[in-house]
Amino acid sequence: MADRFFHNTMPYFLAEAPLQETTPFQTAQDSLTNLLSLPYKTLLDTLKTYALDLKQTVVRETWGLSGKRIHDYTVYTGTLGTAYLVFKAYQVTKNHNDLKLCLEIVQACDSASRDSSRVTFLCGRAGVCALGAVAAKYAGDERLLDHYLTQFKEIKLSSKLPNELLYGRVGFLWASSFINHHIGRGTISSNHSRLLVDEIINDGRKLAKKGKCPLMYEWHGKKYWGAAHGLAGIMHVLMDMELTPDEVEDVKGTLRYMINNRFPSGNYPSSEGSESDRLVHWCHGAPGVSLTLAKAAEVFGDKDFLQAAMDAGDVVWNRGLLKRVGVCHGISGNAYVFLALYRLTNKVEYLYKAKAFACFLHDRAQRLICDGEMHGGDCPYSLFEGIGGMAYLFLDMIEPSEARFPAYEL
Ligand SMILES: [Zn+2]
Repeated sequence: MADRFFHNTMPYFLAEAPLQETTPFQTAQDSLTNLLSLPYKTLLDTLKTYALDLKQTVVRETWGLSGKRIHDYTVYTGTLGTAYLVFKAYQVTKNHNDLKLCLEIVQACDSASRDSSRVTFLCGRAGVCALGAVAAKYAGDERLLDHYLTQFKEIKLSSKLPNELLYGRVGFLWASSFINHHIGRGTISSNHSRLLVDEIINDGRKLAKKGKCPLMYEWHGKKYWGAAHGLAGIMHVLMDMELTPDEVEDVKGTLRYMINNRFPSGNYPSSEGSESDRLVHWCHGAPGVSLTLAKAAEVFGDKDFLQAAMDAGDVVWNRGLLKRVGVCHGISGNAYVFLALYRLTNKVEYLYKAKAFACFLHDRAQRLICDGEMHGGDCPYSLFEGIGGMAYLFLDMIEPSEARFPAYEL
């Protein structure tokens, strides 16, 4: 088990040193402790410079050097993930060149994905049309906004779609919420979403039958629990929908079932019945579940969900310093658990923990990847598996109360 993550030897909490004390202090300690001791504002300047450098690298490797040809158009591992990162850079710096570049990349992804039957935000057409519409809105380009919204509404959903986030119904619904969040409520009508919510709830109740969990889903024959393919992701998106009271009870009951059936370690199984307590990822395990429970605490104002989200956060602190950098199953994604808990509780300890994971990445990731001690990712520049996700996290650290897990939290 220990080979999946680095043993976390960072202090559980370290107060920032006043600026005047940092110079002599720095000489006596290792570079990671020095970074962790920096006043937050000083650290942010360091992270921001690094983030913008990384963004340039990601753009060069996934866009410039490819001759602007699209091999993989998706947010998850492809060029649309670069557009999403560049859009984030625009949100932070307000540099209009970033917005222009984002739209240029989305346009290429639009052409490349016209015949795609994939429909979600992370891995399908909805991502292209939703990000295109939102970027066009910020650019004040009405014609383009109209184009992408029209394309979005023309996406055809097969009745045989699974329900999970990466390829299924909630992955499409998330794109609707993203559009409504940025462009305005009702841009995508709730009637459109309602039909899908009905199908999701019906499928969940049917598979749950008389089991102890009110809703259950299957993807490729397995009843997954995590954010990418299972319950955590589906409940997360459902909480953004207008639900009837009995549907709300089913969502709450499903989350309670998960809490009651977590591993003794506090981690969560990747699928129903699994006894393998190994994965501490956003996609499978405590991090993705913690984000969903944090959302449930916020939406339902329920203290038990908050406590469970914090318990899962402890697992992430102890076992979440993964040997990968991305947001799906890497350190960057796990840092977002602490940012969500910080937003919810306002406790400085959680901001420290997010900072600790970010500082670990800043201080060591590239060296560890070069030395082969850390995996650079199958798509090393991508948003979900590579350094694109790390750049995104560093940009989010600048305004931590506004930080949101990319393409997942609104
Ligand atoms: Zn993953």
